[in-house]
Amino acid sequence: MKKIKNLYQDYRQDRTHFGFRDVSWEEKSSLVGNVFDSVAYRYDLMNDLMSGGMHRLWKASLIDQMRPRDNMHLLDVAGGTGDIASRFCRAGGGWATVCDINHSMITAGRDRAINHNTAFEVRWLAGDAERLPLPDRAVDIYTIAFGLRNVSRLEVALEEAWRVLRPGGRFFCLEFSWVASPLISALYDRFSYTMIPLLGRFVAQDQAAYRYLVESIRMFPTQRILVEKMKAAGFERVGYRNMSGGIVAIHDGWRL
Ligand code: SAM
Repeated sequence: MKKIKNLYQDYRQDRTHFGFRDVSWEEKSSLVGNVFDSVAYRYDLMNDLMSGGMHRLWKASLIDQMRPRDNMHLLDVAGGTGDIASRFCRAGGGWATVCDINHSMITAGRDRAINHNTAFEVRWLAGDAERLPLPDRAVDIYTIAFGLRNVSRLEVALEEAWRVLRPGGRFFCLEFSWVASPLISALYDRFSYTMIPLLGRFVAQDQAAYRYLVESIRMFPTQRILVEKMKAAGFERVGYRNMSGGIVAIHDGWRL
C-alpha cells in the first residue's frame, strides 16, 4: 500500500503526471480521455457506490455556498454529466453552461437530462479547461468539481478560469483533498486502494480507470498549495473549507 503523503510537485512545463506516472501533458490528455470514455455510462452509479452517496452532500454544500440567483450564469468546467449545472438551475440559478473535454461524458449527461426532462436548463460545450471556448469576462460563477485533478496543467486552467469570470465573479473548486486526521487518513487510504479499484472492475468494468482516480487524488496539491496557486492566477479573497475531515475541500476565490 502506498504511503499517504502529498506527492504533488510543480512539473516542468512539458511534464505532468497521470496517477503516479510521469507523462507529457499531451499524453495525459489522451490517457484521461480514455478513462472517461470508458466509464461515462457507469459514472453516476460509480460516484454513489464509491462515496456511499456522500458526493450528493458535498455537491449540495457547494451549491449552498454559491447562493444561486436567477441572474447568474454558471460555467461548470469538467462538468461531466452535468450534475452541478442541473443542481444550480434547480436551486434558482439563471442558466448554466457545462464544458467538458470528453464527448462520451457530455453525451451521457445529455441523455440523462433528456430522460429526466431537464434538458432545457443547460447548454453543453465540448472544450478544454486549459483553452476555454468562451470570451473574456463571460460568466458570473465558475465551478470545477472533481475535475481540476484531471487537467494536464492546473496553473493554466486556473488562469483560464480567471479570464472567463467577469469582475466580481467567483471561482469554486470541489475536489478530493488532504485528510488531516492520521486515523481517518489510514482508513481512507485502505478503502481507496482496495475497494475503489474493485468497484471499478466489477461495476464499470475498468479497474485501471479507478486506480488512476485514487492515484490522481494523491498527486493533487494540498489545500494550502492550491490556495497559493489560485492567488498566483489572480484570485483574491481565496479560502477553502474542508468536508468529511478533508477527504474533499471546496476552494473559492473572487475575480475582483
Ligand atoms: N464535474 C463532474 C462531477 O462532479 O460529477 C464530473 C467530474 S469527472 C471526475 C471529471 C471530468 O473532467 C470528466 O468528465 C472529464 O472528461 C473532464 N476533464 C478531464 N480533463 C479535462 C479538461 N482538460 N478540460 C475539461 N474537462 C476535462
